[in-house]
Amino acid sequence: MSEILPDNEDGIDIAVRLLLGGDLVVMPTETVYGLAADAMDFEAVAKIFALKGRPPTNPLIVHIASADHVDEIAYNNDRAKALANNFWPGPLTIVLPARPSVATNVTAGGSTVGIRVPNHPVALELLRACRIPLAAPSANRSEQLSPTTVDDVMRGLGRLCPPVLDGGPCSVGIESTVVDLTASTPRVLRPGAISQQQLEDALGVAVAIGAADSTIRSPGQMPRHYAPTTPAILSESPWSEPRAASRHAAVLHFSDKPENAPSANAIKLPTNPFAYAAGLYTALHLLDRAYVELIVIETPPEGDEWIAVRDRLSRATAPRSPLNEFTR
Ligand code: AMP
Ligand code: MG
Repeated sequence: MSEILPDNEDGIDIAVRLLLGGDLVVMPTETVYGLAADAMDFEAVAKIFALKGRPPTNPLIVHIASADHVDEIAYNNDRAKALANNFWPGPLTIVLPARPSVATNVTAGGSTVGIRVPNHPVALELLRACRIPLAAPSANRSEQLSPTTVDDVMRGLGRLCPPVLDGGPCSVGIESTVVDLTASTPRVLRPGAISQQQLEDALGVAVAIGAADSTIRSPGQMPRHYAPTTPAILSESPWSEPRAASRHAAVLHFSDKPENAPSANAIKLPTNPFAYAAGLYTALHLLDRAYVELIVIETPPEGDEWIAVRDRLSRATAPRSPLNEFTR
């Protein structure tokens, strides 16, 4: 059983000592729990890749205590400063040209680095106390569901789980928006709680969405990612899906269950997109442990505020292809 560190000075002290000694710690953030290591220490960061089974071609996000620390790891620019002013601390990762101080495995050997200031008191306390930038991807095995509770972290990483700083359930619940500011047009590489429109309003320029070329540069851009182990499908009307009636199936829905619907294992999420996102991974983790053979997920509504949730669900339900298995 791995150790849970309390969210007080003692817990932070232990976490700082581990991190400065080149070891891993799981830290809470407002998006999902992160598997953290010293972002300047190649060997420490290598432990993240090993534990996650993450392909070395996929870069990690670096967490800092405040926007003042950007210059330690990246070449800052006016657009990044504007976004940091508007959205940090918060669920926005900004991709900038990297300085050589960052461990080369953090950037996956590339010339850019993704940075954010998390909006969680325990994460901020930890970052201030250890005085180093922390590389931290989600604290789960590569491709699987991100954890938003301590319980999900520990179940997911099992006996290899490093000590976990307890920060309670994550309030945002899905991974940060990633925006690339290294080209002339800012580009959203991964949708999240901060929308394309909010970025455009803050920057005063058009922001593109999606990868600029067909090269998949990061795990968040993989067709299958953020996925439960149990097969999952999307359905506009989950209750009429014949397979949902089976006692071997479960339904994840947000609209009311019709009166005549078959009785099925089900979890209802809120109809507000932000509250839905906050509960999504916990619900999927629960259903994944329910010994069902299929999870039928009600297709979320159209609309900008649902883009991030739709993105995660389309990846969670993408077929397992030989390509996806290979790039896992
Ligand atoms: P996660 O493993 O959930 O923390 O995801 C990390 C995500 O951060 C990746 O999927 C990328 O979308 C993004 N990311 C981090 N660093 C970079 C970078 N230098 N360039 C592009 N995307 C990045
Ligand atoms: Mg992840």
